[in-house]
Amino acid sequence: MVRHNSQMKEELLAFLRTQHPSVCRHWFDEIEPLEVSNGTLKLLVRETVQLKYLRRCCIDQFTEAAQSVSGRLLVVSFVGEDDVDGSHSPSFDNLFEQIPPVVPNEPFSPLAVDDEMLISPDYSFDNFVIGPGNRLAHAAAYAVAQKPGKAYNPLFVHGGVGLGKTHLLQAICQLAMTHRPDLQIYYISCDGFMTHFLEAVQAGQMMDFRHRFRNVDLLVIDDIHDLSKRNRTQEEFFHTFNSLYQSGRQIVLSSDAAPDEIPDLEERLISRFSCGLVAQIERPCYETRVAIVKQKAFVQQIDLPDDVSSYIAAKIDTNIRELEGALTKVHSLAHVNGVPISLALAKEAIGDRSNRSRSQHPSIQSIIDTITSYYDVKLTDLLSKRRQKSIALPRQIGMWLARKHTRYSLEEIGGYFGGRDHTTVMHAIRAINTKRKGDSSLDQDLSHLEEQLSAQPPVDATDSSKH
Ligand code: ADP
Ligand code: MG
Repeated sequence: MVRHNSQMKEELLAFLRTQHPSVCRHWFDEIEPLEVSNGTLKLLVRETVQLKYLRRCCIDQFTEAAQSVSGRLLVVSFVGEDDVDGSHSPSFDNLFEQIPPVVPNEPFSPLAVDDEMLISPDYSFDNFVIGPGNRLAHAAAYAVAQKPGKAYNPLFVHGGVGLGKTHLLQAICQLAMTHRPDLQIYYISCDGFMTHFLEAVQAGQMMDFRHRFRNVDLLVIDDIHDLSKRNRTQEEFFHTFNSLYQSGRQIVLSSDAAPDEIPDLEERLISRFSCGLVAQIERPCYETRVAIVKQKAFVQQIDLPDDVSSYIAAKIDTNIRELEGALTKVHSLAHVNGVPISLALAKEAIGDRSNRSRSQHPSIQSIIDTITSYYDVKLTDLLSKRRQKSIALPRQIGMWLARKHTRYSLEEIGGYFGGRDHTTVMHAIRAINTKRKGDSSLDQDLSHLEEQLSAQPPVDATDSSKH
């Protein structure tokens, strides 16, 4: 049987999707099978960042797929455009007919990842969801990537764990690489910078170190707060900073705190870090979380119904890394059970995580669940900005119940009900208190709802019963 190139690729990708779904990305479709020679299947990948991702994370999986699909002892090698000499035709169509037998013990050496600038293709601007909490940081990052050294210098992005700092920094590198392939770009963690510095000191190679860091056009250092307490590295970094800054090169830094809140950071560095643009990333609101879950599902080719993305986003409000973890959990459970993802399955996978357990009180999740089923409203509508009465009233009742039966603050309740501020929650509570006095059916509804909630076990008991 003659198998065509494209058919072989489809089979490879199908194998990967079922056997190794976690490594699969939507852009795998763009990979081009080139040829098989000496037992090696060469796959062409045009984007450098994608090429590095595949070499770093996917050689074994692709090799397994190639062996399974072909029934031969093939190995896979990812090649870039620069590696292709143009002499072979990428369109020959009986690839598998041409595979020569492979000597079983032939040593296999995958191409080494040549440099340390490990950038994830997932962390691009295309995959970054913009919301109120990160709009400024995103806009500044985009401007810097387009015009390094000209827009804001330095750009200092700060925010809590898992809120997208590394993603934005890597997106800057990727966009700058595409726009200006001539630029010298260096992306490194602060720890990496310190390690290089200490090694250079020990080896007596400070000239090399300075040459390396002071001649780049765009220096991106992640987690710069790690500089605190490192006096010697702070000193060296101060000079690196000045040298780059004075020659108009771009510096981008991320940190878990604002410059003046990083402990033990020298005054002169605080003032250098603050002299460009300081942009904070804040926790995402409900709508942004939904959009992020959907975006992640798209990137990882996960088929995710809308009610499940809403459920995950309502359930996890801490940070985006946890949101992703929840999506992975749901995806894995579906995969293990061999079933499509559904709301029931999502509840089984992550239902035992309460937003924050406060014993003896119903969880906000159980209040939301009770409200959505009692009033027959959709979770997405309840948490949305829609104001029609059939949705606004249940939402206000939900806030009222949360205030009365949990210890969450007005701000926190606002957060759970679609990222509203505390004045909206206060208004809701007052409105319900006023209305129930003159409206006996509302009063009855409230009593029913309270009964239903009290019939449910409190948060801690709910959690332990599901383990
Ligand atoms: P930080 O560096 O701030 O700790 P990361 O950049 O590592 O956080 O982000 C954690 C995860 O959340 C990453 O997988 C990242 O892609 C994702 N993420 C964060 N913000 C966004 C966003 N706005 N849109 C899409 N994904 C995001
Ligand atoms: Mg980070």
